[in-house]
Parts: sequence; C-alpha cells; structure tokens
Amino acid sequence: MGKISKKILFSRDAIQKRVRELAYQISKDYAGRELIIIGVLKGAFILMADLIREMSIPCKVDFAGLASYGAGSESSGKVVMTKDIETSIKEKDILVVEDILDTGLTMQYFVDRLKERNPKSLKTCIFLVKRKKRKVNFKADYVGFNIDNCFVVGYGLDFNEKYRFLPHIYVIKK
Ligand code: 5GP
Repeated sequence: MGKISKKILFSRDAIQKRVRELAYQISKDYAGRELIIIGVLKGAFILMADLIREMSIPCKVDFAGLASYGAGSESSGKVVMTKDIETSIKEKDILVVEDILDTGLTMQYFVDRLKERNPKSLKTCIFLVKRKKRKVNFKADYVGFNIDNCFVVGYGLDFNEKYRFLPHIYVIKK
C-alpha cells in the first residue's frame, strides 16, 4: 500500500455547527413525542453522542450493526445485520442515525428490515451524503452535508479501522 494523503473536508467547528442545526431541527420536529434513536455501528457512534447531547428533547437510544461485504471499498449489495437492536420499535417514532450514504444499499436494507416491525414512523438522519448516482433511490430525511464522490475518514469513519478517532472529517487519497 502506498502513502495515504489526507485533507480536511470539514473541521471540528464546522461539524459541531451542523450537528447543532440538525439537533435543533430534530428537537422541533419531534417535540412532545417519544423518540427512539437508532445508531448504526460503528461509524455513527460519535455523531450520535454529539447529536443527542445537542437535542432539547429526551430520547431513547439503541444501536445496530450492519456490514456489507464486497470487493474493495464499494458496497456489494450483500448487507447483513451483525447486531440487532434490543428495543421493540412497534408503534414507536424511530430515527435512524448513520454516518454516510454511498450506494444507499446499507440504509435501504436496514430501513426495510425495521419497517417490517411496524414502527409508527421511521426517518433517517445521515451526516454525509455523496453526490452520485445511487444503486437504490434512497432519500435521507435529515442530511448533514452533501459531498462529492470521495472517500472520507474521521469523526467515526474509518479506513481499515483506522482514523475513527480524528475530530475533523478528511478526504483521503489512496
Ligand atoms: P452504502 O451501502 O451506502 O454504499 O455504504 C454505506 C457504508 O459504506 C457506510 O456505512 C460506510 O461504512 C461505508 N462507506 C461508504 N463510503 C465511505 C467513505 O467515504 N468513507 C468511509 N470511511 N466509509 C464509507
């Protein structure tokens, strides 16, 4: 593997500002309701922790693990749930929090699985959405930033399990 170069795409400050705006919007939209937020591991764990602490309404949290297997960094379409949620979501208001939308296959799979459990409502909050032609026509309800079709790390996002801890979001060139 050659040397990897990284460039800041969103600074810690820019991230924090956008997370606050999302939290404000979500708090307004769900005011007076009982919200359950489901984070997708591992990538969304930092976003989720920041988001719920900026919200002005209470919520319950749970986590799911999803993996998509394939060659290289592109999702293959074979998505599996490696960890299921522990909460019953039947008749509940659910918000799924995810780090990034690329092909859309992972989110489409997860949302379809959750809908089978008959939640009262189901929305998604995805921090980074790549501008590209997706394999599935998936639309997020809350979006942090739309980004070009590049590979990003930091703020929970990894490259071979590295870089998740970085406070900024970087574009890497392999
Ligand atoms: P999708 O199913 O939408 O193609 O891919 C979603 C998953 O692929 C994300 O949850 C994430 O794990 C991974 N992924 C897609 N694009 C990137 C990227 O630019 N950086 C990182 N670190 N992971 C990505």
